[in-house]
Parts: sequence; structure tokens; C-alpha cells
Amino acid sequence: MMIDAKTKLYGLLGNPVGHSLSPFLQNYFLQQAGINGVYLAFAVEGKEIGQVLAGLHGLGVGGCNVTIPHKEAVIPHLVGMSKAAEACGAVNTLIYSPEGYYGDNTDGAGLLAALEAKHQWHSRDKRILMIGAGGAAKGVAMAMAMAGAQDILLVNRTMKRAEQLAEQIRAYSAARVQVLPMEELSNGSLYQQVDTVVHTTSQGMYPHGDTMAPVAIEALGSEHLVVDLVYNPLETKLLRLAAQQGARTASGLGMFIYQGALAFKRWHGLWPQVENMEQILTAQLG
Ligand code: NAP
Repeated sequence: MMIDAKTKLYGLLGNPVGHSLSPFLQNYFLQQAGINGVYLAFAVEGKEIGQVLAGLHGLGVGGCNVTIPHKEAVIPHLVGMSKAAEACGAVNTLIYSPEGYYGDNTDGAGLLAALEAKHQWHSRDKRILMIGAGGAAKGVAMAMAMAGAQDILLVNRTMKRAEQLAEQIRAYSAARVQVLPMEELSNGSLYQQVDTVVHTTSQGMYPHGDTMAPVAIEALGSEHLVVDLVYNPLETKLLRLAAQQGARTASGLGMFIYQGALAFKRWHGLWPQVENMEQILTAQLG
């Protein structure tokens, strides 16, 4: 597609953004859909985020993704927010409206859509062990809880952060939430209480591929789905060992693809071509 006077601009706001796969993903989606648009990555300083949003709006930029460290900082500059964004207190998608940008959060819904598409997994009545309580955990835990998860056991290095997340989940859903100390992860009987394990910390991420959360691997089996939000490497040490125990596994790549697909749908009103995206991005990741 040639850039011309009608080309619409979309983008990513974060810092750093140099290694993001979002421009590749979104420009591929645009091209496949035959939309005259282009998606660029912008490294934005924290103190400039308000000015940047005002400038983008003045230029008529159709929408942006927002990543670390601006997911919370954009909120005071928006004209409104979805329930999902409000519940987790973070925005990853900006949608243009004549009055200003509207915020949404497609991270959690992206993981749910990926698990549904690939594993026919639904949140309803699930018993979930969530490792980590950072920004990504918030989006994912809130989405799972709001979609009907029965139990969420939260484990995080900083217990206070897990307790805050537990409070938030209780305020927005009927899920039963329990916060456990990190040492509980090595207690094999913990895994009999859950059917899904969701790892949301950065452990095991490139270049620390030989590390993993202290999960009692021998307690995992075919009754478990183990999800790792990390997608570089595609198969983390946790997923490799879990698969060896017979557990079903899902990497974070599906979540990444579907959070982008949901943002694309919000901007363009179309569902993008997600088929084969996993293979294409895998090749891109090398
Ligand atoms: P974050 O807000 O900084 O949270 C980091 C989390 O990891 C916290 O729970 C933190 O615990 C924990 N943690 C970090 N280092 C640890 C260590 N050495 N031992 C134990 N716990 C540790 O980051 P985030 O945005 O949630 O991102 C977390 C991971 O999710 C990253 O790997 C990121 O790439 C991935 N992610 C994937 C997608 C996707 O689309 N697949 C989307 C977003 C994020 P404390 O609270 O104790 O510090």
C-alpha cells in the first residue's frame, strides 16, 4: 500500500519501543485488510504523555496502543474508559473520538480470546493459580475473574501487591480470591486445587531463559493448562518442563496477537487476519 494524502496514522506509545512486534503485527493486519493506514512506534518520555496525546488528537491519529511505562499515566488525559480498563486501572488502547481519546484494555480479553481459540478454554468456573501481580497480571486476572472464574490463588514476590490486586478483583467480580506466600509454589498439593496455572512475571524471559518461577513441576499433569505470558523465548523453561509432565501449555504469543487483533477491531471495525500469525511472528522472532 502506497502512503498518500489519505493515509491514516496509528501507533504505539511506550519507552522503550525499539523491540516491539506491534508495528509488524498491525502493519500486516492493515495490509491484509487493504486499509490505507500505517502504524509506527513512538518512544515517549513520561512527562510528555499529555502533550503527546493532545498533539496526536490534533493530527487526527486514529488510535494507539500504549505500553510500559504509560498504561496508567494516559488515564487523566482520556475522555472515557471501558469497564475492562477501569477495573484494572490501565489502558493499552486509545480510540479516537472527536472529543478526545477513549481508553480500553485488550490485554486480558486478548489472552481469553487466544485460550479460547487454541485450547477451547473458558474462564467460567475455573480454578486458577496466578503467579505474579504486576501490570500484566492485573489485566489478565481481572478479565478471568469478570468472565466467571471460580477461584483465583495469587502468589507474588511482593505480597502487598498481590493483596491489592485481590481487593480489586473482589470489587469487580464474584471470584473467590486468596493470596498465598511465594513459598507455597513449591508445595505440590497446591496444584490439586487448580486446573490452570498462569505465569505473569518476567522470569524466564530472554536473555534469562534458564530461569523460572519455583513451581513444583512434578505436581503438574494432563489436568492442567499452564500459560506463560512470556513469548520470548516461545517455549520458556516452565512450559517445556510442564509439557514433559503432560500438561497442556500456551505461550504469551497468542495473547500478544489477540490483544492486537482486538485493538485493530476497535480502530477499524474489522476482525483482522489472525490465521498463520503465530507462524509469521515465530519466524520474525527468529
Ligand atoms: P511488571 O508490571 O513490572 O510486573 C512484573 C512482575 O514480575 C511482578 O509480579 C514482579 O513481582 C514479578 N517479578 C519480576 N522479577 C521477579 C523475580 N526475579 N522473582 C519473582 N518475581 C519477579 O511487568 P508486566 O508488565 O506485568 O510484565 C510481566 C511479564 O509479562 C513480562 O515478561 C512481559 O513481557 C509479559 N507480558 C506479555 C504480554 C503478552 O501479550 N504476551 C503482555 C504484557 C506483558 P514484584 O511485584 O514482587 O516486583
